[in-house]
Amino acid sequence: MTAPPPPKPAEHVERALCVLAHPDDVDFGSAGTVATWTAAGTEVTYCIVTDGDAGGFDDTPRDRMGPLRREEQRAAAAAVGVTDVRFLGYPDGRLELTLDLRRDISRVIRQVRPQRVLTSSPERFWERIGASHPDHMTVGESTLRAVYPDARNPFAFPELLADEGLEAWTVGEVWLGASPRADHAVDVTDVVELKFAALKSHVSQVAHVEDLEGFLTGWMAQTARRLGLPEGRLAEAFHVVHTA
Ligand SMILES: [Zn+2]
Repeated sequence: MTAPPPPKPAEHVERALCVLAHPDDVDFGSAGTVATWTAAGTEVTYCIVTDGDAGGFDDTPRDRMGPLRREEQRAAAAAVGVTDVRFLGYPDGRLELTLDLRRDISRVIRQVRPQRVLTSSPERFWERIGASHPDHMTVGESTLRAVYPDARNPFAFPELLADEGLEAWTVGEVWLGASPRADHAVDVTDVVELKFAALKSHVSQVAHVEDLEGFLTGWMAQTARRLGLPEGRLAEAFHVVHTA
């Protein structure tokens, strides 16, 4: 007996929440997908856990880096139709899987009440070490723990309900980016210019990268081929987990 194919993700959802570690994380792997969602009328919120203040490549004063990267992320979000961008302000490069982080992500889930959450894979990508930055895996695992069980359990972090009036909320599906088992392709060919515009908003991260568009086009074309899209198409890929 073979296992039944995994259920397909919802055709359309009202609200989606993207939880990522650093400014620009959502844009490299998922901005095209987000652009297709906002074009279809889904309200998308970004929750960025750190300010990316340990990143950058030039002599920008370190205390300027966090505020600068918040501005860049807001501009990148606007390029793909996202205006609700929230920052949790954790220190870049030093994220740990803590109850505080689970509570803070649970709070945003209960505030936004998304049917769909997008985050990083908590699984290590052995073929591509850079995809598995420890902050990315920590945010992926913390977000999954917030999705199940914290956000839906009114007795988890009871102060969220008692002090802030935030009712329990059950997320229907989680999309994991940079996953070693990504098998769900999103065709982003028609919105790829929006993705490039989003990425170019991260001036302090990408201004020095030569032929960023060429590199990303090759990567997205390879993803599309691997997952059976017609020749010439570009895709982003996810591992979709049903969590209802
Ligand atoms: Zn990152």
